[in-house]
Amino acid sequence: MNKKVIIIGAGAAGMETAVSLSKSGHHVTLIEKESKLGGHLLQWDRLFPNRRPASDVVNYLKNNINGTIETINNTLVNHIEKNDGRFVVETNHGHFLDADAIVVTTGFEVFDARKKEEYGYGIYNNVLTSADLERLFKEGKPLLTNEGNSPKRIGFIHCVGSRDQKAGHLYCSQVCCVTGVKQAIEVKEMLPEAEVFSFYMDLRMFDKGFEALYREAQEKYGVNFIRGRLSEACENNDGSILLKVEDTLAGRPMKMSVDLLVLLVGFVPAGSTADLANMLGMSLSVDGFLEVKDDNMLTTVSPVEGVFLAGACCGPKTIACTLNEARSAALKVNEYLREKN
Ligand code: SF4
Repeated sequence: MNKKVIIIGAGAAGMETAVSLSKSGHHVTLIEKESKLGGHLLQWDRLFPNRRPASDVVNYLKNNINGTIETINNTLVNHIEKNDGRFVVETNHGHFLDADAIVVTTGFEVFDARKKEEYGYGIYNNVLTSADLERLFKEGKPLLTNEGNSPKRIGFIHCVGSRDQKAGHLYCSQVCCVTGVKQAIEVKEMLPEAEVFSFYMDLRMFDKGFEALYREAQEKYGVNFIRGRLSEACENNDGSILLKVEDTLAGRPMKMSVDLLVLLVGFVPAGSTADLANMLGMSLSVDGFLEVKDDNMLTTVSPVEGVFLAGACCGPKTIACTLNEARSAALKVNEYLREKN
């Protein structure tokens, strides 16, 4: 067919969609706002539940991006015009690109934990996020407190910025429970003598291998799971963090000090989502992600003809699910272009 397709966003979803469409013979242009392809995976150390290096997936995606895919880095989309069923995309560099179809794969951002001021991120030095911890693992750095000591007690807090009316996000981010379990195991491997406590509302271990990882965390590594919601974190004089938690199983408040506190931050829509929706005449779901045409049957098709979607721009999901959606979006683009031909 050899049609032109523009893909906006070159994380896992965008790269996999580009490869599938290129193999079908289309001219594919991949627009990315950052200087490198790969999105959030570039900052990630190991994946759940098998703890394989995230770089395996990055390399798989990069190796498949061949010379037939045009990649434009450090570029934003400023404007999109649709005329006679074709699109003209204007970039922030003043370039105009035309296309027969568009795939939006702009992904997500991580919740800014500073918005939960009561948890102390950005205020107390010994509070970090799951994204910070993952970066530390990736850089191969030791896990130390701000005072340079090996932490003896580490706390993980689930649902930071998700399932939280006050934070404005009622949805579950799906992957932070399993991320917390994976990271708790990794902390125990790094510091076998340390005590690890994980405070959760519910544990949503829904996918293949997740439940087994949770059991391993308890039975093999001795991670303590406590059903409770953190109401406040304060700093003690020695820099450790005092947690005030409502133990929802025992039905009573509890206090505990930890040397390091890890906040399991969830997904929020990428900053560009609302602007892109506006440019394309699309609507947002109540959660602020892009609305799909049909939640049951057409999860990679947008309500706008010629515009397709894949990955976390439509809501939180795993890498495996993101890659499957990318392939599904490519199939739908092919169907659309064939019918249009
Ligand atoms: Fe909370 Fe777990 Fe859902 Fe994340 S996956 S929002 S931690 S319940």
